[in-house]
Order: sequence, then structure tokens, then C-alpha cells
Amino acid sequence: MTAEIIDGKAFAAGLRARVGAQVAALKAAHGLAPGLTVVLVGEDPASQVYVRNKGKAATEAGIASDEVRLPATATTEEVLAVVRRLNADAGVHGILVQLPLPDQVDEAAVIDAIAVAKDVDGFHIANTGRLWSGLEAMVPCTPVGCLMLLKDRLGDLSGLRALVVGRSNIVGKPMASLLLSEHCTVTIAHSRTRDLAGECRRADILVAAVGRPRMIRGDWVKPGATVIDVGVNRVDAGAGRTRLVGDVDFESAREVAGAITPVPGGVGPMTIACLLANTLAAACRQAGVAVPAAG
Ligand code: NDP
Repeated sequence: MTAEIIDGKAFAAGLRARVGAQVAALKAAHGLAPGLTVVLVGEDPASQVYVRNKGKAATEAGIASDEVRLPATATTEEVLAVVRRLNADAGVHGILVQLPLPDQVDEAAVIDAIAVAKDVDGFHIANTGRLWSGLEAMVPCTPVGCLMLLKDRLGDLSGLRALVVGRSNIVGKPMASLLLSEHCTVTIAHSRTRDLAGECRRADILVAAVGRPRMIRGDWVKPGATVIDVGVNRVDAGAGRTRLVGDVDFESAREVAGAITPVPGGVGPMTIACLLANTLAAACRQAGVAVPAAG
């Protein structure tokens, strides 16, 4: 079997266009322009690229995008002061603090300070709790993007066996919660899991969010399974060059899986598109306007 390649890039482009149209409709009907502010602390090159891409995508969708930069030496109190100012700014509907923060900044305190309604990353403990309780919540962008790709391919996920490899607060845990909400039978694997290959072989849905290049091999994949590869790993490509690979060994897995996301071009583009959808939803809720359906 050669797997269908799930084109996250194309799906994300469609989602961004839909959000753009919904933003235009919101402006026309209510004179409301959603606003997103990204806070970047320090000079991390990867974070700078992510922030630039987020700002560009937001602007293209008609979202008012702004950026606050603080030096790498910023203290927790200085970051908190920015967050509090943005919380109080009615023109800012979404606040995203780019992670990771420098070591001296208390990341948990910063996330905790973001107004729950403006927490477009969905990392605030109130949004986490609401998600696990099955209540309306701001859901982290990467797992919600993965779920959209899964539902687009599989439709009803009810009763399927899902394995999430990785238990981070950003990807693994919210992914597991979303799959549980879709009535999957969910297993979460991590670095202490005893028989990871065996767990993988039982999964109809396999989501890999580990950060280890090509760790999951084709002979671990259940024939016909849908494989979502969240991992982004930069590896040596020879001749002084590097390239990006996922947590799944794409070449061997595509011979066994029913469908698989590539890296790059799979989950990555969905993350930004879902951030735009979350910002639109945040603006609507804050204005008391019905939230248009995403996806
Ligand atoms: P974390 O480092 O926070 O979590 C990694 C998880 O993988 C941990 O739960 C860890 O287990 C588990 N793990 C590590 N080694 C193994 C192993 N040998 N076997 C099984 N499990 C293992 O990473 P993130 O969740 O933040 O990110 C995961 C990957 O996804 C990274 O490559 C990251 O770059 C990528 N990513 C991509 C995004 C996108 O938009 N495409 C967005 C966010 C992340 P334990 O808890 O026991 O340590």
C-alpha cells in the first residue's frame, strides 16, 4: 500500500482563506477588526521566524497584527507588565507569548497572567481545564489543526484506536483530549512507555509529537492507519546543508499507512491557520457575536 499524502499546506491555505472571508464579514457587519499581538522575548532565530510568519498570515487574513519585542534580559515582571497592558487593551483580542521564554522568566506565571478570553494559544490553565471538561475553550493550535486533518480524511472518528506519542502540554495532552472528545479510544505514550512499537501497531490513528527524527518506523505502523507527524527536526543533509524531517520515518511509513502527513507541508501550516481561527473566535466572543464555524 502507498499512503495518501495529507496535504496540510493546501488544507491550511483553504482555512486561512475562509478565516479571511469571515474577518471581512465581521468588519462589514459589526465594524470589528480582530487584533492579535505577539510578544517576543529575546533573539532566538527560530522564534523570530515563527513570529514573522504569524504576523504575515494574520495581516493577509485582515487581522490587525502587532508585535511587542523585549530583550533577552527581560525579567518576569517586565513580561507580566506587557501582558497586563495587552489584557486591558480592547483592540487586542488575542495575545500570544512566543515560547520558549528565556530561563530567568517564569513561563507559568506569564501564561497564567494572560486573560483567558485572549489566550489564543490555549495554554492558560483555565482553557486547559475547560478543554478536558468538555466545555467551550480556546484549544491549542497544533492539536486542533491535527484534528481537522483527521476529520477531513476519516470523517467520524468514533471508536477508533488513537495513539498519541508525546505528553507535552502544548501538543500531546490537548491532542489526546480532543481525540477523546471525538470518542476515540486513546492511549498516550511517552519516554517511559515499555513497548512503543507494539502500541503503535495497534493504532488506527497515530499522532507523533516527540521531537526525535524518524523515530517511528514503517514496521511499527498498522496497515491502513492514518499517521499525523507533528515532529519538526532539523537534520544534516550533507554538503553543509540541513533539512527538516518528522518523528516518523516517512519513506517506510508511507508504504504501510493509509494516509500520512509529510514534514514539511503537513501539520506545520495548520498551526498558523488555526491561530487565525482562534483569534477570530476570540474577537467574536469578546464582542458578543456568534463565532463562525472553523474548518
Ligand atoms: P516536548 O519535548 O515538550 O515533548 C516531547 C514528548 O515526547 C515528551 O512527552 C516525551 O516524553 C516524549 N518522548 C521523548 N522521547 C521519547 C521516546 N523515545 N519514546 C516515546 N516518547 C518520547 O515536545 P513538544 O510536544 O513541544 O513537540 C514535539 C515535536 O513537535 C517537536 O519536534 C516540535 O518541534 C514539534 N512541534 C511542531 C509544531 C508544528 O506546528 N508542526 C508545534 C509544536 C511542536 P516524556 O514526557 O516522558 O519526557
